[in-house]
Amino acid sequence: MPVNGGVLQGRESEVVAGVHPQLFIGGKWRDAEGQKTFAVEDPSTGETIAHVADASVADGRAALDAAVEAQSDWARTPPRERGEILRKAFELITARADDLALLMTLEMGKPLSESKAEIAYGAEFFRWFSEEAVRINGRYAVAPNGATRLLTLKQPVGPCLMITPWNFPLAMGTRKIGPAIAAGCTMVVKPAGLTPLTMLALADLLTEAGLPEGVLNVVTTSSTGEVMEPLIRDPRLRKLTFTGSTPVGRKLIEQSAEGILRVSMELGGNAPFLVFEDADLDKAVDGAMLAKMRNVGEACTAANRFLVHESVADEFGRRLAERMGAMSIGRGSEDGVEVGPLVEGKARDKVAELVSDAVETGATVLTGGEVPDGPGYFYPPTVLAGVSPDAQVFREEIFGPVAPVFTFSSDEEAIRMANDTEYGLVAYAFTESLARAVRVYEGLETGMVGINQGVVSNPAAPFGGVKASGFGREGGAEGIDEYLEVKYVGLAL
Ligand code: NAP
Repeated sequence: MPVNGGVLQGRESEVVAGVHPQLFIGGKWRDAEGQKTFAVEDPSTGETIAHVADASVADGRAALDAAVEAQSDWARTPPRERGEILRKAFELITARADDLALLMTLEMGKPLSESKAEIAYGAEFFRWFSEEAVRINGRYAVAPNGATRLLTLKQPVGPCLMITPWNFPLAMGTRKIGPAIAAGCTMVVKPAGLTPLTMLALADLLTEAGLPEGVLNVVTTSSTGEVMEPLIRDPRLRKLTFTGSTPVGRKLIEQSAEGILRVSMELGGNAPFLVFEDADLDKAVDGAMLAKMRNVGEACTAANRFLVHESVADEFGRRLAERMGAMSIGRGSEDGVEVGPLVEGKARDKVAELVSDAVETGATVLTGGEVPDGPGYFYPPTVLAGVSPDAQVFREEIFGPVAPVFTFSSDEEAIRMANDTEYGLVAYAFTESLARAVRVYEGLETGMVGINQGVVSNPAAPFGGVKASGFGREGGAEGIDEYLEVKYVGLAL
């Protein structure tokens, strides 16, 4: 099977050639039915860099067969053993961070520094859950009438299906795989078609860390809906965990109703970034750079709407435009590059369309706003001032390096504007007043809030949203509960 399209240089070809481009089922690498494959592109050039196995419905079923077969033995494995596998995998990822980061940059486009940061963040979920594996506890209580004893214990949910997006090819996987391994669940993982290579490399690494066969199975496919639906409807599957867009999440919740699956949904966002009149503007601009430019804006947590008090909006917009306008754009694997391409042409067109719409409804472009010539799917860091709340960017996830600035005149208006969206993943607020910060974070309808900080992601904290941003939490002490069922035993005396 051709792996390398021949456009890569030196170490780039080696890291791509080091990936098994096949399906990983029952501990074995194998071709898809009929040896079918699909192409993986480098978004900075549009060139094919690899071909990976294109699973059929039967291949998908074989992966679930393997997960089901491995489940009961795996559930009985001593927790310490499961924890040690995760710990070893954390160490292997950390030792190979440079190669994994390069692989991720090649298939996804983000700069190497960003890929390295994701590798560290993604590995941390394995370390965190290696420590949680040995803390799966129950309770013991005397019933109020004194006649019985109430015991609770936690047991693995059972075989899980994990569907992940392209924007964080490693971390969106490890924050599901880590707790599932810790809890004693087996799994089928379906990485995004645009970025399957990092997950295939991770499967190899988990095998090296000692994960028994059948516990993790990886299926890559270009017929996603067709291959996933029968698995979701298969009565042997017990849980679906999905990270991706809200429309796909809605569809998958419907499909999960048939098997009454345990479901976790990490969906889209439309994060407000609030800057109050008493904010420290240096901190706010630093925070904005992180909240907007991390992952080139291709993050569910990316600040989507900058809501700034009218008295500081001009100054904030000017300073943000200066910083964003000075960033260097280029192929992610080149030294010093801070802004890589967007993941595909469609994503870039959508960003360009949102900017045109904002300008047509009255916004001023402070920096950026022009699509550069090809190759690659680049879009420059862009700041828009005086944006109307009627512009599409107020409602839609931008998923690119565009910062629209809206204004407000009172705290009440700021909170009302922040909550005026179907989404509720994260919000950021900058103020030097503790009392205002408390009023604001209590009033925001989101699963997470960053006060005077532009990043909230942390493996030790419960990540997740409310409203159309989904339900369930990943990371923190809560993360493992998504993979455990509580059983209550009544013990009569
Ligand atoms: P997407 O189109 O929903 O795809 C996500 C995953 O779902 C991919 O693996 C995709 O496979 C698969 N998929 C697509 N259609 C499917 C179907 N009918 N049945 C089963 N699986 C299906 O989202 P995306 O564009 O990759 O990711 C961006 C979205 O993810 C944004 O909305 C972002 O906010 C959200 N996100 C949320 C979080 C969070 O934690 N809340 C984190 C990261 C991203 P293919 O690749 O083969 O299409």
